[in-house]
Amino acid sequence: HAKELGRGRFSFFDFSINEKNQRLIKVKQALRSAIESSEYRLVYQPKVNPHQCVLTGYEALLRWNSQELGMVSPDEFIPIAEESGEIEKITDWVIRRVAMDKQYSAHLRHANIAINISAKQFKSDSWVNTLRIMHDSSELDVASITVEITETALIDSFEVTLEQLLTVRGLGATIAIDDFGTGYSSLSYLKKMPIDYVKIDRSFVQDIGIDPDDQAIVQTVIAMSHALDIKVVAEGAESAEQIDFLKSKQCDEIQGYYYSKPIELADLDSFILQL
Ligand code: C2E
Ligand code: MG
Ligand code: MG
Ligand code: MG
Repeated sequence: HAKELGRGRFSFFDFSINEKNQRLIKVKQALRSAIESSEYRLVYQPKVNPHQCVLTGYEALLRWNSQELGMVSPDEFIPIAEESGEIEKITDWVIRRVAMDKQYSAHLRHANIAINISAKQFKSDSWVNTLRIMHDSSELDVASITVEITETALIDSFEVTLEQLLTVRGLGATIAIDDFGTGYSSLSYLKKMPIDYVKIDRSFVQDIGIDPDDQAIVQTVIAMSHALDIKVVAEGAESAEQIDFLKSKQCDEIQGYYYSKPIELADLDSFILQL
């Protein structure tokens, strides 16, 4: 009896955890058929050089409209796909879709496109092989691809990390460290690894004009990166004030709602960026 009572109380108090688990199981299940049911698409968010007022490229961002669950945010399903291993197939799909979308859209064809590689799969061969195969068959000009990886991808096993980066760079790709400032790694990799860009995380950019500490961080990251011959992109700029600050600190490129939200493929060719 006591056990039964205890169990009853447990499930009552942990209702939200239970709910979360059920959602997790549903998402994991639904992910398995997402590719064959054509539930994914890519949207493209512009990046801008604010000094010359030119578009410098786009970041490809995954969207999942699940038949069963409706729209699910990548912030929710990417971590689940990383756990289940589904991420390998997803990244493969993303790379192939970028190549197809470049065929479809004149706007994208010659543009640099950034794709996101999960830290969890960074050391695996599959995404590198996909890039190599597409490069060798001329299906994709890898010189027009930027690979965005987070700091956590860099922390263990220096040799493997370096080898991966050198391989994709050898195919012509540009390397960017995404969400910079939110991870745990030491700064020494910035000088040891072949890195072209640092992308300052949105959490620092959004409080420019509000929090002097964040301004100091942004300014310092830009100065340090430039000293190491690394370019800087700021993500998540939404106000003119943020743009002015970033420009005055010589930030090389900016991505954010101030310029544009991510754009649907079908709208890209008629889209005119106001600069
Ligand atoms: P991320 O790579 O840091 O991408 C930037 C995120 O910030 C995107 O959210 C973008 O829509 C959002 N963003 C850009 N500018 C602004 C702004 O001015 N204000 C605000 N509030 N948000 C802004 P999204 O598309 O929801 O993606 C979230 C995260 O999911 C990405 O963060 C990335 O970590 C992951 N993700 C998205 N697509 C992929 C993918 O194809 N593969 C992998 N592995 N991860 C992906
Ligand atoms: Mg990114
Ligand atoms: Mg980012
Ligand atoms: Mg981010």
